[in-house]
Amino acid sequence: MTGDFASIPPAPPTADAYPSMVLLVDDQVLICEAVRRALATETDIDLHYCTNGLDAIRVAEELKPTVILQDLVMPGIDGLSLVKRYRETPSTQTVPVIVLSAKDEPAIKSAAFSAGANDYLVKLPDRIELIARIRYHTRAYIDHVQREVAYAALRESQRLLIKANLELERLTRVDGLTDLGNRRYFDEYVRAEWRRALNAGKPLSVLMIDVDNFKNYNDTYGHLAGDEVLRQVANAIRIGANRPGDLAARFGGEEFVVVLLDTPLEGARTVAERLRQAVRDFAITQGDGHLSISIGVASVTPSAFVSVEQLITAADLALFRAKAAGRNRVEVTQDIAR
Ligand code: GH3
Ligand code: MG
Ligand code: MG
Repeated sequence: MTGDFASIPPAPPTADAYPSMVLLVDDQVLICEAVRRALATETDIDLHYCTNGLDAIRVAEELKPTVILQDLVMPGIDGLSLVKRYRETPSTQTVPVIVLSAKDEPAIKSAAFSAGANDYLVKLPDRIELIARIRYHTRAYIDHVQREVAYAALRESQRLLIKANLELERLTRVDGLTDLGNRRYFDEYVRAEWRRALNAGKPLSVLMIDVDNFKNYNDTYGHLAGDEVLRQVANAIRIGANRPGDLAARFGGEEFVVVLLDTPLEGARTVAERLRQAVRDFAITQGDGHLSISIGVASVTPSAFVSVEQLITAADLALFRAKAAGRNRVEVTQDIAR
């Protein structure tokens, strides 16, 4: 039994995993034929040759060699210039180039490496050595290409991860139903802007907004219809408070809040009135009339004698008065520091 297997010669260690595609560029057909014969028995090495140096780049682009064997002295174009061209051409930039030269002079070898060659052999090279070098360069090249592919895949997955993280980050700030800021984001924002306004000596305004008789709306038309109304109200608020730095957020349930930077009370009242009217203009049927919102407005220039909580509470109190006064209206708290 074992005798049968023993008679099969072991496969060359690198042959199948790293098949070589060799492009020989040499104007002498005699040389090309000699190299072809030298490699003929190697099943893992394919050889193509090109006797016109001017065609070399085009042939290389089509053939996609794993190794280029490059003659130095050719009519029309010299070998070193071609080596430089390979290095400048994206598709051949990293393909290993073995210079085949009739000369064994260090200065010429040095020039070949400077031009971008990876190796240097004197013509006609020993068959065993040529095969070994072709296999070595093919393996290095294929490993390099595979690494590039793996890096590209890694970079792509990193890009997707960053994108997913950004989206997650956004979700922590956004209310899922209305796409406005959420409560948590409002809390952070109003405190950060409070500090900024304190330093700048600028007024800061808060609008507390509550949908009127909304429990009744839900009970009459259902919660899904109620959700749709919340989205519409959110849109009106988004459109109505759209200066850079204005923040509209869902405070909770059917309550919204707006922060207006560098805006005194009268300006805030104007914005609030615009929002109230915008919701009214939607003409969303509710009972005998139309759906409305009530808004409480407070404004203050931050100082050591007043807190952001007092500002929010003052807006809340104004909202309470708007409800008590009959809803669908804007009320303001004039002086919050007392
Ligand atoms: P008021 O004019 O005094 O504000 O009356 P109201 O009915 O709006 O106030 P109340 O606080 O009694 O009811 C608020 C209702 O808002 C309760 C609930 O049905 C509704 N609501 C809160 N959050 C949501 C939501 O996310 N979706 C829907 N569809 N309804 C909600
Ligand atoms: Mg409410
Ligand atoms: Mg309400």
